[in-house]
Amino acid sequence: MFTRILIANRGEIALRVIRACRELGVEPVCVYSEADRDAPYLRLADQAICIGPGPAKESYLNIGRIIAAAEVANVDAIHPGYGFLSERAEFAQACRDCKIEFIGPTPEAMARLGDKVSCKLAAKEAGVPIFPGSPGALEDEEEAARLAASIGYPVIIKASAGGGGRGMRVCHNEAALRSNLRAASAEALAAFGNGAVFIEKFLEHAQHVEIQVIGDKHGGAVHLWERNCSVQRRHQKLIEEAPSPGLDRAKIEPVCQSAVRLITQAKYHGAATVEFLMDQAKNFYMLEVNTRVQVEHPVTEMVTGIDIVKTMIRVAAGERLPFSQRDVQLRGHAIECRINAEDPARGFMPQPGPVQTWHPPGGPGVRMDTHVVAGYVVPKFYDSMVAKLIVHADDRRQCITRTARALREFRVEPIKTTIPLHQRLMEEAAFVEGGVDIHYLERLLK
Ligand code: ADP
Repeated sequence: MFTRILIANRGEIALRVIRACRELGVEPVCVYSEADRDAPYLRLADQAICIGPGPAKESYLNIGRIIAAAEVANVDAIHPGYGFLSERAEFAQACRDCKIEFIGPTPEAMARLGDKVSCKLAAKEAGVPIFPGSPGALEDEEEAARLAASIGYPVIIKASAGGGGRGMRVCHNEAALRSNLRAASAEALAAFGNGAVFIEKFLEHAQHVEIQVIGDKHGGAVHLWERNCSVQRRHQKLIEEAPSPGLDRAKIEPVCQSAVRLITQAKYHGAATVEFLMDQAKNFYMLEVNTRVQVEHPVTEMVTGIDIVKTMIRVAAGERLPFSQRDVQLRGHAIECRINAEDPARGFMPQPGPVQTWHPPGGPGVRMDTHVVAGYVVPKFYDSMVAKLIVHADDRRQCITRTARALREFRVEPIKTTIPLHQRLMEEAAFVEGGVDIHYLERLLK
């Protein structure tokens, strides 16, 4: 096992990794920006090193400064968390060059599965269900028009290097496709430094279902079943749950097994999430692979009893997976509500500033993953998520009742948060029924 790990992240996920380190007997080291100087979780680390000013480009996204901090602290490994540098192959490579273990895949496996086009090719080989669409990056407009005609409209143009919901365009006919292609490619080049684009079938009514997988360095790999993350706004997930409502194990199991084949064939170690859209007939189409820990990993932890972050650290240290596929048993239901410092009544405008009252919920089945305490000031520089409320119960109905109960206990003042919206959702008939699609929340808020 490692002696010391540097956490190249901030906020709740930095605290989550600190907790995993402590339980493994590893010393956690944090980095922080000037904007996070007073964050209370920094005191839980053995060491905390300032890496620059508030803007992420000058701190959490600065590879040189993070590697310098890792060398000063003399760590054996770096946990990248999610966001920031977690999916940048050049960061994983910089760690390797400095003989620091990157807690995640190799830069090669990350690049192969992180790029949408090469990932799709690998998925096809592994028998993972994918969208009808262009097999690789598009060569020209004529090829795109021919393909779209054979798939049928609508189609969606995506950037091979895209992410965060950016660089996608839905086209309902050939004229729209032709006029959008060049712009999409230019936009992708400007935004991601790679102009490659492809098209695939656009699904009008779909649910977001993703499979959690994890592999070790000895060829071992397992899946931890699925999460349903269909309650989204502008491609940002707001609620995640496991298992997916109304989904037979017999229907999802082959998809889970295909995800395991994909990471095995890619010689991938660490945690990964294979994301799918599921149509109304419960057919699956792979969207992409996230080569890091997900924000919503706790719902899987609650229903499987497996600590994903600790497992990531153990496999990075060279241990074999401490459980087999047969050991992974689902128990009950879990729901995660993302509590963002945003005002839903004003277009989800971010609400940075001081939190004076902070009364988090508790009681049976309630888990709070948050770095916030009363007196904390939400910085303006970063993502607006301030807490994740994760609730576990014996079944989905009881889980919804318990989530509503926990949300009622939760008091945050004076900043506005998504708590009232979550309260409303726990009472909305369609959500309670289960099986809402990815446009449900936007329809509800219209
Ligand atoms: P990103 O990496 O930018 O997040 P994804 O490929 O994961 O891009 O897609 C983001 C979101 O866009 C999906 O969650 C879904 O809401 C929508 N989307 C992507 N592809 C399709 C598709 N083929 N049909 C319908 N919706 C899609």
